[in-house]
Parts: sequence; structure tokens; C-alpha cells
Amino acid sequence: MMKKWNVGNEKVITGDTIDVLLNSTHEELAELSAVYDRLPDTRCARKTHCCSMLPEATLLEVLAAFKRLGSLQERQRRGIFARIIEYFFINPARITACPFLVETRCTIYEDRFFGCRAYGLWSKRHYDKMAGCNRQAKLSLGQQWRKMGITLPDDVLDFQVPYCLDVEVLNGAMVDDSELVLISHEIADLSARLSPWHGKFNQQYVADLSFLAVTMTYGIQSALRMKIDIVRNLLTNADRIQLDQILKNIDNNPLPFGPDMENHGEE
Ligand code: SF4
Repeated sequence: MMKKWNVGNEKVITGDTIDVLLNSTHEELAELSAVYDRLPDTRCARKTHCCSMLPEATLLEVLAAFKRLGSLQERQRRGIFARIIEYFFINPARITACPFLVETRCTIYEDRFFGCRAYGLWSKRHYDKMAGCNRQAKLSLGQQWRKMGITLPDDVLDFQVPYCLDVEVLNGAMVDDSELVLISHEIADLSARLSPWHGKFNQQYVADLSFLAVTMTYGIQSALRMKIDIVRNLLTNADRIQLDQILKNIDNNPLPFGPDMENHGEE
């Protein structure tokens, strides 16, 4: 039976929504972890070199990442949140590493997304097919920006995380493409229990954790307007003034969800 979520505003996902979901999805998060356990343990010779973008994720995976983020020391938590915000604003203009990557370490490794876990396990044929879809999506993104008078750099539009031959399966059975597809559907089904938020996250927030993070602070329309200005300024004269001001504000304010939210107003 579908759960009822006691959240006031059903139009957008706010920090309050995330807090309610974080407090009521222990069961779903445990099931997510059990699904991940069906993937084999792996070792990678290149370590985090492939973490050159923030993967798409389901809302349930985002909650797992936010939960892990909330468990970090305040300074590190805020630092990573600021990186997520920066990632959202500059990724059309620059190739930017995943914001959860700090130096050579994934700060949410135990709760990393399915996309991270499956990378290196897909067959080349399947990976190329996904890369082709991704290329098409980037081309249409480039066209949308061009309509606003902004030409995104070719190296950003052409960028693809290369197919990986360096992941070695340590234990557990090797999984094939059909098992990986099945697992990704099971994760989507688990996340769909968070209705209507799961669907909203996919459609309104295009399954982008960084977009969700920014909108929790600025709202959807303002976040998009600010992004257009920041990308234009970065590409025309490498101007980061507006972005640096936003990052400074993020650093000085509590996070919109989690432990900082609980302390909000008590200091
Ligand atoms: S979540 Fe972690 S493993 Fe996944 S891309 Fe980011 S840094 Fe890499």
C-alpha cells in the first residue's frame, strides 16, 4: 500500500519535504541497501578518475546521499553542499568533478548511486547505447542554451565518461546487462513508493540532485534565472562574482535540511 507523506506543500520539494522523507523512509533505504548488495564487490585501478560528473539518481538514492551527508562533520557537510551548489551553476560551462569527490575520495561511498556502482560492469555494447542517448540529450541541451544566446563549449557538449575496462570483480557473481537493468528498475520501483515526490523529482528536477539542492534555497524559477546569468558571465568574461557571493551565503547559512535544519534558530 502506498504511504501517505505528511508534507504541506505538494508542488515543490522543500527542505521540510526532505526532512519528512528522511525520517520516514528507513524501510525503503534498507531495501535499497539490500538491492545494492546483489551487485558484486569490485576494485578499480583508476579509483575516482571517472567521477567527472554527478550521476542521475532516483529520489530514494538522493535521500541516501543526503542522509550520509548529514552524518558528516558540520564543516565537511557545508563544504560538500557548497560544491553541489557550485556544480549546478557551472556544469554547462565547465567539466566539473562530482561534488561528492573530495581529493581522491568519494565522501558518500557507502551510499553512492547505482550509476556509480554499475559503471564498469556494463557491456561495451550497452554502455555505448547509453552514451549515444546521453550525447543526444546534450545536443538538445546545447540547442536550448543557444536559443537564449549562449553557446556552450564543445568540450562540455562532447564530454563522455569513457567506457571502463579497469573494474575488477572481487567476489559475488558477475552481473550481466539484463541483471543490471533489472536492478535499476527495482531501485526505481522502490523510489516510486515516495509518490508524488519520486515523479516530481524525475520530471521537475530532471533527476538532478544539484538542481534539487539549489531550489531548496532559492526556488525553481530563481535558480534557473541565476544559472543563466552565471553561465553567461562565466563564458563571456570568466566572471564568478555572482557565483562566489552565492557560495559565501551558503557557507554562512544552515543547510535547508537535516541536522542544520534542526538547529536552525537555536544559535
Ligand atoms: S557519488 Fe562518489 S562514486 Fe559516484 S561519481 Fe560521485 S564521487 Fe564518484
